[in-house]
Amino acid sequence: MSSVPVAVVTGSNKGIGLAIVRALCKQFPGDVYLTSRDPGRGQAAVAQLQQEGLRPLFHQLDIDDLQSIRALRDFLKEKYGGLNVLVNNAGIAFKVQDTTPFAVQAEVTLKTNFFGTRNVCTELLPLMKPYGRVVNVSSMVSSSALGSCSQELQQKFRSDTITEEELVQLMTKFVEDTKKSIHQKEGWPNTAYGVSKIGVTVLSRIQARLLNEQRKGDHILLNACCPGWVRTDMAGPKATKSPDEGAETPVYLALLPSSADAPHGQFVSNKTVKPW
Ligand code: NAP
Repeated sequence: MSSVPVAVVTGSNKGIGLAIVRALCKQFPGDVYLTSRDPGRGQAAVAQLQQEGLRPLFHQLDIDDLQSIRALRDFLKEKYGGLNVLVNNAGIAFKVQDTTPFAVQAEVTLKTNFFGTRNVCTELLPLMKPYGRVVNVSSMVSSSALGSCSQELQQKFRSDTITEEELVQLMTKFVEDTKKSIHQKEGWPNTAYGVSKIGVTVLSRIQARLLNEQRKGDHILLNACCPGWVRTDMAGPKATKSPDEGAETPVYLALLPSSADAPHGQFVSNKTVKPW
């Protein structure tokens, strides 16, 4: 078994994820795994970074596929005996002009951004080694969408005692409410992406709390973040940040020094903790 530290970035064949792998290859003292649901796109991205003189490793990972997540889990357990850095970056967003029915957009978006990310956490968080760092890439849109929720929902999502099961029930209810076209009447905002990212930010707050309760002595730090508005296939060419600039806050959180005890359980943008 290798004692080399290991970092994994989900959805890293392009965009911000690829830029996070690039930065980690330069700064993380260990093996860095570029992962992709499609091995061809993943290997092409590895080749691109190799041309830059970097040495990322590759593993397949589709966060919509529990078998794929478990295969990565077993690989990490066997080869490294755990994991030091996990960046949950993989995500999807329908374009504004997309005419897919809203209920379908809600189901598909929540499936990857919330439920897929949660499944990765369920399988990989138990592998985190002491002083491990976990970064869940959310979005400022989670904050704006929270502000558009009913007071009752806002209270639930800001609660310091909400459980993962309660959060899953709420995310499931959103999808069901969109199918009945009652989501706005039920207090939800009209953004599937926004609700999925509320889920990611609240999940991060819950997971950090559980780490405090169950693994306090292990000094693991887990945070959600916004990368900013970044020029990728998701956000388009008008966005203000390059992918490498978008990687800065996630990489800052992934490389918090072992002496740090904060931030933890926070929502971080531009390397600054934001109120939730
Ligand atoms: P992007 O260029 O579209 O890249 C998304 C990445 O996620 C791709 O590698 C994609 O793989 C992967 N992915 C999607 N579904 C997946 C799945 N089921 N399993 C594994 N990988 C999957 O988007 P981006 O702008 O870099 O976004 C990265 C993250 O930042 C997302 O979580 C996004 O919500 C967040 N974010 C972005 C912005 C922005 O302005 N760009 C702002 C705030 C937050 P494929 O190539 O196979 O599709």
